[in-house]
Amino acid sequence: MAELKLSESRDLTRIERIGAHSHIRGLGLDSTLEPRDVSEGMVGQTSARKAAGVILQMIKDGKIAGRAVLIAGQPGTGKTAIAMGMAKSLGLETPFAMIAGSELFSLEMSKTEALTQAFRKAIGVRIKEENEVIEGEVVEVQIDRPSASGAASKSGKMTLKTTEMETVYDLGAKMIEALGKEKVSSGDVIAIDKASGKITKLGRSFSRSRDFDAMGPQVKFVQCPDGELQKRKEVVHCVTLHEIDVINSRTQGFLALFTGDTGEIRAEVREQIDTKVAEWREEGKAEIVPGVLFIDEVHMLDIECFSFLNRALENEMSPILVVATNRGITTIRGTNYKSPHGIPIDLLDRLLIISTQPYTEDEIRKILDIRSQEEDVEMSDGAKHLLTKIGVETSLRYAIHLITAAALACQKRKAKVVDLEDINRVYHLFLDVKRSTQYLMEYQNQYMFSEMGEADEDDI
Ligand code: ATP
Repeated sequence: MAELKLSESRDLTRIERIGAHSHIRGLGLDSTLEPRDVSEGMVGQTSARKAAGVILQMIKDGKIAGRAVLIAGQPGTGKTAIAMGMAKSLGLETPFAMIAGSELFSLEMSKTEALTQAFRKAIGVRIKEENEVIEGEVVEVQIDRPSASGAASKSGKMTLKTTEMETVYDLGAKMIEALGKEKVSSGDVIAIDKASGKITKLGRSFSRSRDFDAMGPQVKFVQCPDGELQKRKEVVHCVTLHEIDVINSRTQGFLALFTGDTGEIRAEVREQIDTKVAEWREEGKAEIVPGVLFIDEVHMLDIECFSFLNRALENEMSPILVVATNRGITTIRGTNYKSPHGIPIDLLDRLLIISTQPYTEDEIRKILDIRSQEEDVEMSDGAKHLLTKIGVETSLRYAIHLITAAALACQKRKAKVVDLEDINRVYHLFLDVKRSTQYLMEYQNQYMFSEMGEADEDDI
């Protein structure tokens, strides 16, 4: 019994959540940007994938700003999947931010603030720092709070000032260790071998009479015993403009990055940061890395947001904007005008448009195959065939949803391979849109606020 419980709990810890696009690992293109039929979790949709690959190459080559792409197509034709594929193919250093149009309408912040934050999440800053911290280097350290005798108290707080964070951590840890083991006094010059952590006392660089307290604690890098620095080390930090904004705008600082509770950020803070980053760029200390901002359901934006986008794209730091919609000609939110995809013509004119096409039966079968593997579901050929038919008749999404449900039905009857009967069972348990609509038509009178019902009543 106890054994059983143990194995149950072990199984639970292995549960991982599988997202709708977790099978997508890239765009599945070869080195000449030609789409492979099935690759990196991607199936078919070749011309859209190729077009996305060209955009990706433009992003990787860098130095382009203000480009915007619209992925338009029917529901379930892989628009989000393609955007996710682009995200996966970008290097870790290139930021990718993703929001859905509906997320902009929150009570916590204005739409334009939410959009500004999204834009700044998609702009990376590569900050380069050069220093002379090297293996076997000699570090001259002044130790904070010397005791009356001039020797550092063992529990004494070590404050190390330097512009390079990694060095602070490394040295801080090593110095604290040194204080525990060796007698290091204020003003001592010590050498720390970075590789072995070995500490050698080299003598004293200054006496207490040199006004140690007035100088305050600091770390200074001096030359190696043999009189020369061995090599210079360049440290690169990659952050987004949004992260810099948050750290500089809130009392809780970077913790707000984890909680997401960033609130509105004042325009002055952003201006100061932009000026600072511009300075760094001029000094060659920083580079801007324009990333990708993906806005799904872009038709949910209103006219104010669209005009914000128009303006934001003109900024030289602008990321590549990728938007997606499944709408045809529809009203632009906030106006009485209709426009293709619900997007104003002036913005549409700026967009490179990629369209996605409905899938063939064979493509649906392959996507369902990949999803089954991703969800660790084994299926008989008959079940696969039936599920593909269902995908063709209803929608790819509905068929994908049935995989997990069918696997549960299969588990219930203590079998290992999902078979026709499991698919059949869940097909009748859960309705697809078509059957649900049909059901509504039949029983509309029994529902509240049925418009057709009202119309009928009016007619009477
Ligand atoms: P909507 O307009 O409703 O938002 P969409 O076009 O964004 O739909 P997706 O969400 O990308 O559609 O696709 C639906 C499901 O099918 C997702 O799980 C997606 O990962 C998968 N899928 C779509 N196209 C492909 C493809 N070409 N290869 C592999 N999986 C795909």
